[in-house]
Amino acid sequence: LSERLQAAMNKMRRKGKISEADVKEMMREVRLALLEADVNFKVVKEFVKTVSERSIGEEVLESLSPSQQVIKIVNEELTALMGGEQSTIQTAPKSPTVIMMVGLQGAGKTTTAGKLANYLRKNQNRRPMLVAADIYRPAAIQQLETIGEQLDIPVFSMGNQVSPVEIAQKGIEKAKEEHRDFVIIDTAGRLHIDETLMTELTDIKALANPTEIFLVVDAMTGQDAVNVAESFNEQLDITGVILTKLDGDTRGGAALSIRSVTGKPIKFTGQGEKLDALEPFYPERMASRILGMGDMLTLIEKAQLDFDEQKAEEMTKKLKENSFDFNDFIDQMDQLNNMGPLEDILKMIPGMSNAPGLDQIKIDPKDTARMKAVVLSMTPQERENPDILSQSRRRRIARGSGRPIAEVNRMIKQFNESKKMMNQMSKGNFNGMDNMFGS
Ligand code: GDP
Ligand code: MG
Repeated sequence: LSERLQAAMNKMRRKGKISEADVKEMMREVRLALLEADVNFKVVKEFVKTVSERSIGEEVLESLSPSQQVIKIVNEELTALMGGEQSTIQTAPKSPTVIMMVGLQGAGKTTTAGKLANYLRKNQNRRPMLVAADIYRPAAIQQLETIGEQLDIPVFSMGNQVSPVEIAQKGIEKAKEEHRDFVIIDTAGRLHIDETLMTELTDIKALANPTEIFLVVDAMTGQDAVNVAESFNEQLDITGVILTKLDGDTRGGAALSIRSVTGKPIKFTGQGEKLDALEPFYPERMASRILGMGDMLTLIEKAQLDFDEQKAEEMTKKLKENSFDFNDFIDQMDQLNNMGPLEDILKMIPGMSNAPGLDQIKIDPKDTARMKAVVLSMTPQERENPDILSQSRRRRIARGSGRPIAEVNRMIKQFNESKKMMNQMSKGNFNGMDNMFGS
């Protein structure tokens, strides 16, 4: 979580309702986070407005703090703005389906053409063919041929003395002859938008009748991405976007800008130079990346979905009264089991993944049954007053449950850790958790 956002959230803790001032404060941080992620300022402005309007007056869910609730709304709106998961590739009614790769020079068109061919073959059992229609960049044809060789996927080329339009045409004919079901046309780029290039691309489009026109954009481009996407979309009516170089340290604000300016879906992301480094686009992941939130949002979602709200409320009350006992512990374990391994949940909290001692409070779902057996061997009095568990009582419990004494001891220790942890969480204090591990 970005430090600023975290600070704003801390301030908002322990308040019962979302006030207009709270939203204002959170939004200032959200705005900064988005601008830092290189999201276009107009897009940011519009976005903040939408979220503010929605947040004020929204009821705070029992299981969330007001700040978590605002972040949840931010996340939902951000995810919605980036569209659903749409990594499907349209196919033509009649084979072959033609895909055109367009974009500025260096964006990653040629590499991504290869990745896409690889993806289609590997994941959809297709027989793609690559077409080298960049006749300008020195060695561009060679580059695509090398990629084809690496993948063992055919590359159609005619040197650089033939027009790109003709290359595209002949390439498609060849693909038909060879019963290839996908043709991916790699086109030329320029350093900047330029009329000659656009005319050439429009000509290829008119002739090749592509089902998909993918605009390839370097995620590091930042603010510029908006203008690039806008012009390409105006002239070519692109069908989707592929965002490359997300393996770099960019926050990926370009994704949000491009999507909101063109309305076209982001379909894939490039995650490295290797030819298998292509992934479907996950709007939610991108939303967290843009906000710099780690998996905090996932945690909030999970907690909200799986945590029985009433139980949580009871538990919080008990914790406040310091009467959390072994009966609750068992309940808690059941709930945590429903949420997935505790370890995974803790790892999702920013700053927690490396927390020393994380393994000590690990609860393996397989152990839950054994732990229950131990608890069931306690007298009701012991379950309600864990403090009375002397060594002799522990030995008796061990005998009764058929578990070694060391295990009983370990479990009581885990119970105490868990109690401390739940106590922290009930106060909404995720930060404090680092401290409890004695770091
Ligand atoms: P084109 O000019 O649009 O055809 O771009 P290229 O495909 O030639 O790519 C330009 C450079 O970016 C090459 O060095 C690629 O290896 C690199 N590249 C492309 N996609 C990615 C990616 O997703 N991650 C990284 N790290 N590098 C990439
Ligand atoms: Mg190229």
